[in-house]
Amino acid sequence: MKLILLGPPGAGKGTQAARIAERLSVPVVSTGEILRAAIKDETELGALAKGYLDAGELVPDDIIIGIMRGRLQQKDCEGGFILDGVPRTLEQAAALEQMGVDIDRVIDLEVDDAEIVSRLSGRRVCPSCKAIYHIESEPPAVADICDVCGAALEIREDDKPETILERLRVYHDQTEPLRSYYKKAGKLRSIDGTGDINDVTRLALAALEG
Ligand code: AMP
Repeated sequence: MKLILLGPPGAGKGTQAARIAERLSVPVVSTGEILRAAIKDETELGALAKGYLDAGELVPDDIIIGIMRGRLQQKDCEGGFILDGVPRTLEQAAALEQMGVDIDRVIDLEVDDAEIVSRLSGRRVCPSCKAIYHIESEPPAVADICDVCGAALEIREDDKPETILERLRVYHDQTEPLRSYYKKAGKLRSIDGTGDINDVTRLALAALEG
């Protein structure tokens, strides 16, 4: 199964991708994670990408397309994969097609802007095992400590209030057109992303059938 998770920043793509991946036994390909790892490791790619991430802007298409091409050629992607946060522009979607990648389904997580702002401003992430929390709706047992691995939780640089609004603007402007692109192709399944995490997973798995 070759799957894309679409939706605004903070819609729950990362959380749902991990759950669906476990169920389907396929890897998650997250360009955001690849870029954050490159920044942390201070690689050339990281140096190039950092300014864009910190500002909430998209990294240029040629860079993302190169990352995507390299990652999808790896052996673990042979039996399918879940794309989380990519494609994010029509150019990236066209590049996927040119690579001969035939996407089976696009799950579109619908969450409105007010809910996104509330979610992202309360989001805390574990820099070590990547677990995701929310200070109100999904708090860790001990404040600011990861339940899974004990690391100190962090606020993502791009979850700062001023950057959240810019990321939403960029989503509506550049990524939302992908909904009609994949709808026309008959691949889009929009689901309500605002319910309980388990309900959203159930809806997403149901959307993979039929
Ligand atoms: P994410 O973790 O998916 O929210 O991505 C975090 C940031 O990484 C985005 O705000 C962009 O700056 C960058 N990024 C991730 N994926 C892409 C992509 N497909 N195209 C352009 N920029 C991306």
